[in-house]
Amino acid sequence: MKSVRFIRTARARLSLLVVVFLALTACSKDAPQAVVDKSSAIDTITQKALEDHLAYLADDAREGRMAGEKGHFEAAQYVADRFAELGLEPGGDDGWFQQVPLISYRADQESTTLIAHRDGEDAELTYKEHFTMRGDAVRKQNSVRAEVVYVGFGVHAPELGYSDYDDIDVEGKIVAVFGNAPGTFPHNERAYYSSGRTKAQEAVARGAVGVLGLISKRIEEYYPWERMKAQAGTRPGMAWVTLSGEAADYYPELRGSATINVDVARDLFAGTPITFDEAREATEASKPSSTPLGFEMTLARETKQEIITSPNVVGLVRGTDPELAREYVVFTAHLDHNGIGAAVDGDTIYNGAYDNAMGSSLLIETARAVAASPARRSMLFIALTAEERGLLGSDYYAHYPTVPTDAIVANVNLDMPLFLYSVADIIAFGSEHSSLDTTVAEAIAAEGFALTPDPMPEENLFRRSDQYSFVRKGIPAVYLKPGFTSTDPAIDGRAVQDDHRKHHYHQPSDDLSRPIDWDSVVRFARANARIGYAIANDDARPTWNEGDFFGEMFAK
Ligand SMILES: [Zn+2]
Repeated sequence: MKSVRFIRTARARLSLLVVVFLALTACSKDAPQAVVDKSSAIDTITQKALEDHLAYLADDAREGRMAGEKGHFEAAQYVADRFAELGLEPGGDDGWFQQVPLISYRADQESTTLIAHRDGEDAELTYKEHFTMRGDAVRKQNSVRAEVVYVGFGVHAPELGYSDYDDIDVEGKIVAVFGNAPGTFPHNERAYYSSGRTKAQEAVARGAVGVLGLISKRIEEYYPWERMKAQAGTRPGMAWVTLSGEAADYYPELRGSATINVDVARDLFAGTPITFDEAREATEASKPSSTPLGFEMTLARETKQEIITSPNVVGLVRGTDPELAREYVVFTAHLDHNGIGAAVDGDTIYNGAYDNAMGSSLLIETARAVAASPARRSMLFIALTAEERGLLGSDYYAHYPTVPTDAIVANVNLDMPLFLYSVADIIAFGSEHSSLDTTVAEAIAAEGFALTPDPMPEENLFRRSDQYSFVRKGIPAVYLKPGFTSTDPAIDGRAVQDDHRKHHYHQPSDDLSRPIDWDSVVRFARANARIGYAIANDDARPTWNEGDFFGEMFAK
């Protein structure tokens, strides 16, 4: 109710502004537009405002901002209210909002079944103790029994001289597969081939009927089974719904999927042509070692689905150049987080202060600067929903943008920027693929930051946040994060960030008690605005580098 009334008010105010503007332009046709100059616009960004946004968004009362739930709606309304105050125009298809239709689904935990059949014997495994299993976005009931074939990473990349599927038949089989992709791949290719979507498409094209997930050493270290099983079933899976009513990225051919823990995997691989540890070491060494495992499995579960909606919040600052204003620089930050879940040290609220109340706060303040002094091109500011459920809000927007896709010249994304110490450098994931590299480096130098190349390509971060939804539509993008260098040489930034990743990332402790170097936050916000100005004021729109992997793959 509140939001509906609010939108009407904003629209009324907007049409009033339009009338005033038309009246003004009518009497003084060639008068130069009065705009605040860029550097004083950047000075409108304040620490106080950033602190206020963060305090509201990461408050326990927002209940972890789960897409589709009350806390996220309140956060979305908060962002819309700030956009309105700052003088942005509503840029959604429902006022400030673009409502994203989602299927929210949960496996009925009682019904989850995983049985190994070997040498005439059946071993029934126990949910959470031995395996986790997610629901199905569409079917109420699933059951599949089939042979299990180990396929390494499940990657087929003949152009890189690598395939886990050479001489391996998976027609009608369940594929047992590790996450990620060979470490010997160039970074871009590794990011592309490590995606679950790429792997599912390959498996389905070869006739696979189910997926058994295996746990790598890295996952074991960063996400131990105790935590994985505590989280199992606590959050819904989600898929966005296409205009024709289909679940996006849904593979009906796959009738079952589960992840087994390392001990179970060791037992199941015993007596097969390869031990689990040999298999895991082969993937670490980027060597295909696929083999049929000689046993069958039954995977079954029932799922309850529900159709919900959750909004992207979209604000617009129109450009000043009559031609270039038809083009858009799109700033994004996901506003959702993981809601309420399993208790850790007595805390059940996953506040997501850094992930991504921080990025959302920076998004609002970037909008403040740009609204105070618009650039030649238009800029869109989007607080995205359901990133944590699989980049859903951004994927929906990229498929159904509120402006023409080819008018979007670049995406600048913020997700979990960490300011745990005084920051000296910025990593612009993905900038090396396009002309954005130079643009970003120059813009951030003005705020005293150095640009550092991706220091952890094994994490494949370029495809793990919302910018990848835009990249898949051929739009050059960067994903900005503070780097590992502190202005204080005594601080080992990599160790500090690594500690956050291990002990606070996606934990209830990612809350307002985390240390924050506010001076760095303000400089980062300023740098972000400068990046926007640099892209939006340039005569030419950003271009993919000649022969770039992502440019060739998605922009042709
Ligand atoms: Zn995030």
